[in-house]
Amino acid sequence: MHVRATTKVYGIFGHPVSHSLSPTMHNAAFRQLNLDCVYVAFDIHPNNLESATHAIKSMGISGVNVTIPHKERIISLLDGTSPEVSLTGAVNTVKNKNGNLTGYNTDVEGFLTAIKEDFGVTPKGLRIFLLGAGGAARAVLTALCMTGASEIYLINRTLDKANTLAFEFKKSYHDVSIDPYALEDTDSVERSLRTADLLINASSSGMEGVASITLQLELLPKQSLVYDLVYKPRDTALLSKAKELGLRSAGGISMLLYQGAKSFEIWTGEMAPVDEMRKAIEF
Ligand code: NAP
Repeated sequence: MHVRATTKVYGIFGHPVSHSLSPTMHNAAFRQLNLDCVYVAFDIHPNNLESATHAIKSMGISGVNVTIPHKERIISLLDGTSPEVSLTGAVNTVKNKNGNLTGYNTDVEGFLTAIKEDFGVTPKGLRIFLLGAGGAARAVLTALCMTGASEIYLINRTLDKANTLAFEFKKSYHDVSIDPYALEDTDSVERSLRTADLLINASSSGMEGVASITLQLELLPKQSLVYDLVYKPRDTALLSKAKELGLRSAGGISMLLYQGAKSFEIWTGEMAPVDEMRKAIEF
């Protein structure tokens, strides 16, 4: 890869950001398609988000991904957003078109493509056990409601957050049943596990440095699927237990790949070289 005066700059805004796999993934894609582009990580302290977002325009940066903790706050700093952003309330991709900044959320499509590839399913008609009520859970919930999941048990450590999320989504999706429960409400958690077709961990539980909660996966029906959004480590305690019980399971690397592929396509208008991108992050 040769960085020249004409090279277009893309990047990721986060804090911290040194763990991100996105530079490796996107630079592999640029190389594969021979595009005169480079992708770098910008560690942006929350105090500097506003000036950094203005700098996308003033410095002619072509586009950025946005990660923790900026996904929500950046919205008010953009010139416009695509429709899925209003429900998720989060932006993970910004495109700079002639000084006009548009925000997108590619986590929604990334999640749907991941479970289609990993399990061959869409959420339509499925009963879902969804753990978490943060930014990632919002994207997953949007995907589940858009595609017609039949019932969603929304479980979170802090009940208030699950209640708020359920209330908000029910206003837009009257036909989807969303039942919020606290993680410590063991009766409701067990009842939800017994009927779930697909269990999704969209919380930080099990992520490197975060304690892993123990769910009684043995209560799940035998044909249930388990998807863990966490991709660091690859083999989370949840996935290990699912495998031990013979349940079909997959980790978050596929969602990371497909949200990245969608960002790439929004920025470049080219079909993302998914195989190269996957090789770059599956080490
Ligand atoms: P976030 O907005 O900070 O939300 C964190 C969520 O995790 C909250 O619901 C929180 O519960 C819960 N939580 C945190 N620690 C917990 C613990 N020890 N036990 C149980 N629940 C716990 O974070 P996020 O952006 O939603 O990200 C969540 C996870 O998804 C991260 O691991 C992230 O890397 C992953 N992710 C993966 C992808 C992908 O492409 N694969 C995309 C996005 C995110 P409270 O409300 O009680 O605090």
